[in-house]
Amino acid sequence: MHVELRDQTESQSAEEAPASPRCRFCAAPLRHTFVDLGMSPLCESYVPPERQGAAEPFYPLHARICELCLLVQLDEFVSPEAIFTEYAYFSSYSDSWVAHARDYVESAIERFGLDAESLVMELASNDGYLLQHVVERGVPALGVEPAANVAAVAQERGIETVIGFFGRELADRLAAEGRHADLLVANNVLAHVPDLNDFVGGMQRVLGPQGVVTIEFPHLERLIAGNQFDTIYHEHFSYFSFLTAQTVLRAHGLEVFDVEELPTHGGSLRVYAQQESTGRRPVSGRVVEVAAQERALEFDRIDGYAGFAPRVMETKWKLLEFLIECRRDGKRVAGYGAPGKGNTLLNYCGIRTDLLEFTVDRNPYKQGQFLPGTHIPIHDPGELERARPDFILILPWNLKEEIVSQLAHLRQSGARFVVPIPEVEVL
Ligand SMILES: [Zn+2]
Repeated sequence: MHVELRDQTESQSAEEAPASPRCRFCAAPLRHTFVDLGMSPLCESYVPPERQGAAEPFYPLHARICELCLLVQLDEFVSPEAIFTEYAYFSSYSDSWVAHARDYVESAIERFGLDAESLVMELASNDGYLLQHVVERGVPALGVEPAANVAAVAQERGIETVIGFFGRELADRLAAEGRHADLLVANNVLAHVPDLNDFVGGMQRVLGPQGVVTIEFPHLERLIAGNQFDTIYHEHFSYFSFLTAQTVLRAHGLEVFDVEELPTHGGSLRVYAQQESTGRRPVSGRVVEVAAQERALEFDRIDGYAGFAPRVMETKWKLLEFLIECRRDGKRVAGYGAPGKGNTLLNYCGIRTDLLEFTVDRNPYKQGQFLPGTHIPIHDPGELERARPDFILILPWNLKEEIVSQLAHLRQSGARFVVPIPEVEVL
C-alpha cells in the first residue's frame, strides 16, 4: 500500500512537472541558475491609484545560464505586445542619454562617410531621441518602434517611423521596398527580444552589402563585476557577454569587426558588425582584446559564473541594514527615479514605504502612480523640496552624477545622496 501510494505520487509529479526551459538561442535545456531573485511583478507595470486595492501578478525572476552557448537568460512570461504596445519609457527624458546619442551619430556619420544618399535605420527607435540627430545632419533616417504612443512622438518630430516588431518578416518587407541600411542601429534592444534568432536574422536581411550594424547592450562582465543584479528584470530576456554576442551574430552571417566599451547603463559594449560574405572592413585588435579579457575571467566556461548569486544576497543584506538603521535613528529616506531597475531592487529586497517613503521621477507619465509590487508612491521632483528627506536613494545609479548635479541645492540644505549598487554607499 505504501509503495503504491509512492508510485502514484511519483507518476503524478512527473506529469505535472513543467517542460524544462530551453535556451532562446541554441535550444539546449537550461539546467543552471545564474541568480534567482524570487517572485517579482513586471517592472514597468506602474500601479495607478484606482488599482491600488487590486491583485497584482508576480512572476519568477530566475536568471539561468545555458551550458552550451553561455547565454544568461530569463523565461518569457509575458508577450512583448503586453510590455511594449504602450511603453512608459521616453528616452528623451534623460539628458545624458540624448547627449550620448548625439555623440554616437556624429562619430558614425564621420567614420562611415554617411550622406544624403545613405540610409540610417534604427530598431526600437523610441521617441526619435537618436534619429533626430541623423535627420539634422541631412542623412535619411527610418525608425522601427513597436510602442505606438512613443512612435507618435518621433513622427511628430518628422522622423519616419514604422510601428511594429522587428524580425525577418518586417526586414523582408523593407528589403523588398529597396530599403537597405547603410547603418543599422540597435541600441539596448537585443536584450528585450524574445525571438533572438528572428531578430538577428532580420538584421542580416535588411543590412546593405557594405552596411554596418552597431549594437549596444549592457555588458554581462560589468553586470557581474559591478553587482548590478537590479538590471535583471522580466522585460530584459537576455544578458550578453562579448563572446556570446559574437557567437549569436556569427550564426546569422554577421561578422564582428570592432567593439568599444562604453560607460552607459553601468558599462555597455558597442559591437560593430558587417555582412560576413560581403563586408570588407578589417577586424580590429580590440575584438581580440575584449575576447581575451573575457576568457581570462573564464567567461567561456560555466564555472566562471558561479559566485555571483552569493554576492547579490550580501548586497541585499547591506542595503536593508542601512535603511533599517536610518529609520531607527529617526531619519527620513526618499528615492530618486522610478526606473525598471529600481523595481527589481525594491521587490527583491522587500523594501516598502516603511523604509522608503516615496520616490520622484521627471517623467509625468509615472507621477501620481505607484511602483509595481512595493506600491511606493511616485511624485514629481518638487516633492523632495517640500518633504526634505535626510537621505535620497538614487535608484538609477547609472545616472548618479547627472542626478547629484541636478539636485545640488538639496545637498546644500543637508540632504545626503545614497546609491544601492555595487553596495550601499553614502556619496
Ligand atoms: Zn544556448
